[in-house]
Amino acid sequence: MLFESTRGGVSDVNFDEVLLSAMAKDGGLYVPQNLPTLSCEELQALKGKNYKELASELLPHLLGDHIPKHVIQEIVENAYGSFHHNAIAPLKQLDNNLWLMELFHGPTIAFKDFALQFLGHLLDYTLHREDKKAIIIGATSGDTGSAAIEALKDSENIRLYMLHPKGRVSDVQRKQMTTVQADNITNLAINGSFDDCQAMVKALINDKELNESGYVTAVNSINWARIAAQVVYYFYAGLNLGTPETKINFVVPTGNFGNVYAGHIARSMGLPINKLIIGSNRNDILTRFFETGKMEARNVKLSLTPSMDIQISSNFERLLFELFDRDGEQVKRLMNDFKRNGLYEVSEEILTKAKSLFDAYRVSDERTVEVIQEIFDQTGEILDPHTAIGVEAVITNKKTSSTPTIVLGTAHPSKFPETVKKAIGCPPVLPIYLDHIVAGEEKAIEMENDIEILHKFITEDQGYRQLRTNKTTPI
Ligand SMILES: *Cc1c(COP(=O)(O)O)cnc(C)c1O
Repeated sequence: MLFESTRGGVSDVNFDEVLLSAMAKDGGLYVPQNLPTLSCEELQALKGKNYKELASELLPHLLGDHIPKHVIQEIVENAYGSFHHNAIAPLKQLDNNLWLMELFHGPTIAFKDFALQFLGHLLDYTLHREDKKAIIIGATSGDTGSAAIEALKDSENIRLYMLHPKGRVSDVQRKQMTTVQADNITNLAINGSFDDCQAMVKALINDKELNESGYVTAVNSINWARIAAQVVYYFYAGLNLGTPETKINFVVPTGNFGNVYAGHIARSMGLPINKLIIGSNRNDILTRFFETGKMEARNVKLSLTPSMDIQISSNFERLLFELFDRDGEQVKRLMNDFKRNGLYEVSEEILTKAKSLFDAYRVSDERTVEVIQEIFDQTGEILDPHTAIGVEAVITNKKTSSTPTIVLGTAHPSKFPETVKKAIGCPPVLPIYLDHIVAGEEKAIEMENDIEILHKFITEDQGYRQLRTNKTTPI
């Protein structure tokens, strides 16, 4: 299986390069040149498989034969072995045709574990096979940081520096990062904003001196392997609720368009999905696009759903590529417009095509709290605020009521205790397997928002220097 860039400048790339590079050299994102479609009979043959078996069957279709099947099976076993529910992605019924898929039973109780646990083990395998080392530098506003740290801790081939804006992540999120004691991980609390952290990461990714020591990359949500891992749970839910003999809908609380795009890939591979429904908060750039055909960035506003406080949905570029019949030149033009003016617009024809694939809703903070309360009163289930946005999209979209509809539960409610307390009067408790983060000793290094200081810190860091002495050929 070979990959090409969404901006038309790079093609026939193998999976190793896709896995190990932050993006394609022309600035685009990698997509497979061909994706297989599964027949009705092939889908039926997948029924009854447990999550790990299903992942081991599906992932070779998404990654190609570059990685042997038995290796994928082993990686899946390790990645999802760290989950705290036997079903991995259990389904709960909330109403007649309404289901909740709980994607928060991984080590950091948010759905990002699905992608990052898989990616972590895959990176380790690939680096080991190629006898290479990687320095990974990440910036996080919350969930990605802890999921990456859990996934990469104790890897012999990876040195991870994770930057977070000091005082601007929640207590639970910070502790999930800083209480992990692993020699290859350093937490840096930066006196600045998330955007400052991200700018420092971008500057270091291209730093010559660091790149001489091995492979320098970022953990970002545009890696194809992350999308691939997320495709699996759409099939899992679908096969458990009657596909391929019936159609289903999914509702996805959306930020960077990674999760819902994985649903779109599942549909492209033959899973009979009727509608993919996008939920956004007041940062509604995607919802406005589906209303107007204009993608227009505004300032990020804080909301009760911080993991969706985003104004650039990076993975949407992959959908654009498809909407333009894989014409990379057109995508490049729009992305250049967006970079220059924070705006691009598509034709009526393209918008109609997009609307046939997705519905989009926006939900206010006030309504988000009300939904948590209503669902708790009606069912006893406690939703996290992101998931509540998804549920609200179903409540307002009556069209979905005759089709089984699955809302993706993207985080455990105890990750957002203040908001949940506002809704139901009591803060939700952390699962007992996270007790260690409450009492654990925190380790983070405070640092000024200054790229020179960070650069000096990394190049003088013992872990980095060790990696340099063991250095093999940079990729
Ligand atoms: C990251 C995240 C989202 C948004 O997912 P995207 O793939 O960026 O669209 C939604 N909810 C939670 C809890 C998250 O952590």
